[in-house]
Amino acid sequence: MFEAFQVPGGVLIYGIPEFRLPKAIVAAEVDYMKKLGVKFECDTVVGATVSVDELFEQGYDAVYIGVGAGLPVFMHIPGENLIGVYSANEYLTRSNLMKAYLFPEYDTPIIRGKNVVVFGAGNVAMDSARTALRLGADQVRIIYRRSREEMPARIEEIHHAEEEGVEFHLLAAPLNFIGDGDGRLAGVRCQRMELGEPDESGRRRPVPIEGSSSYFDRCRCKSTSNQKNA
Ligand SMILES: Cc1cc2nc3c(=O)[nH]c(=O)nc-3n(C[C@H](O)[C@H](O)[C@H](O)COP(=O)(O)OP(=O)(O)OC[C@H]3O[C@@H](n4cnc5c(N)ncnc54)[C@H](O)[C@@H]3O)c2cc1C
Repeated sequence: MFEAFQVPGGVLIYGIPEFRLPKAIVAAEVDYMKKLGVKFECDTVVGATVSVDELFEQGYDAVYIGVGAGLPVFMHIPGENLIGVYSANEYLTRSNLMKAYLFPEYDTPIIRGKNVVVFGAGNVAMDSARTALRLGADQVRIIYRRSREEMPARIEEIHHAEEEGVEFHLLAAPLNFIGDGDGRLAGVRCQRMELGEPDESGRRRPVPIEGSSSYFDRCRCKSTSNQKNA
């Protein structure tokens, strides 16, 4: 088994935090596979370190490609390049795999925001929000463009996030990130949404409510219209 990272386990190691899935459990599974005869070659990016054709030339009869879905999906809104905006993938990898919470003992730094906003409401969002709390955030908000019923996260993950103090702001979506003039994130402007007809996923489509922007900055959230706060 060829693995690009320095340890095998994929998302179970680099994405899902220790508090939800202890790494020792994944390591035990890997050890078990080793006992069954699986050989692991880490730090090997198939397609760069070695090609699939080369693997066949080396004598392998079959190649199974199980590379996961590791690339983040961005929202393509202004300000995404500001310092302080992370994809969940990068944020969780820094924290989990690279042990950024132990910086400078470990080499990888991470921004420890005091006021953190997470967009989306799947398991990845819940893990990111709960990680932010553990990294010392005073306030963590999940902003989701649909309603609670459409949240894709498992119910227990939502409950755990709520129990730990994560706030949920539903029917709101980001419009743009705002910089402080020095390349760093200072706020995010959001828009209130309402639910329309179901889309191809079967979930009701979020539709923007025109003229209903809200502004989240480092210390507060305020409405800039006569609409209810997001
Ligand atoms: C934060 C988070 C929370 C989640 N929570 C849940 C949950 O609660 N319940 C649930 O059911 N699912 C959850 N998921 C989804 C679940 O973890 C994934 O669906 C699952 O781990 C995918 O497994 P996989 O083996 O297909 O891919 P991955 O786990 O991504 O493994 C792919 C591996 O391939 C390696 N790789 C990629 N490209 C190359 C290459 N070119 N050469 C060599 N190696 C390469 C990667 O480094 C990685 O180790 C979560 C995902 C995330 C990110």
